[in-house]
Amino acid sequence: MQCEMCGTEGKLFKTEVEGTVMVLCRDCSKFGRVVAEIRPTERVKKIPLNAQDEAQAEKPIAKLQKNARKEIMQGLCSGYQDKIRNRRTELGLKQNELAIKIAEKESIVQKVESGQFRPPIRLARKFERALRIRIVEEMVDEHEKDYKAKKETLTIGDMMDIKKP
Ligand SMILES: [Zn+2]
Repeated sequence: MQCEMCGTEGKLFKTEVEGTVMVLCRDCSKFGRVVAEIRPTERVKKIPLNAQDEAQAEKPIAKLQKNARKEIMQGLCSGYQDKIRNRRTELGLKQNELAIKIAEKESIVQKVESGQFRPPIRLARKFERALRIRIVEEMVDEHEKDYKAKKETLTIGDMMDIKKP
């Protein structure tokens, strides 16, 4: 809302000037008789609007971070133990030699290869590095898609090339 006389924004007063009621700023109201102070209702309305805009601007970021954590799941691919054994044999490594490479006990290698022990991701990564294979799968929850998830799907898709038939 603006002063009807000079266009100034700010505190306005309903002012009677020569029999006409006008909405005027403090300065212009001196030309007449102030009837009432006008509360800047328009501004009051704008505040929640802006607050909403800000909330909407911030929301997707928070949502994305939450989703990103939730959507990426890591797991061992099926037949990971065979992949490890086959690759180890291919490289001409014995179980104890592979164990040294990954700084684990030979029994760990034995158990992992026989499927008795399902290695945690961190250990599986060691096998991956030592043997240059891919046994950890990263999956994206398909139910909650957003652009960030799509972006990550691409990256994961690239990484999973090896696993494709
Ligand atoms: Zn004015």
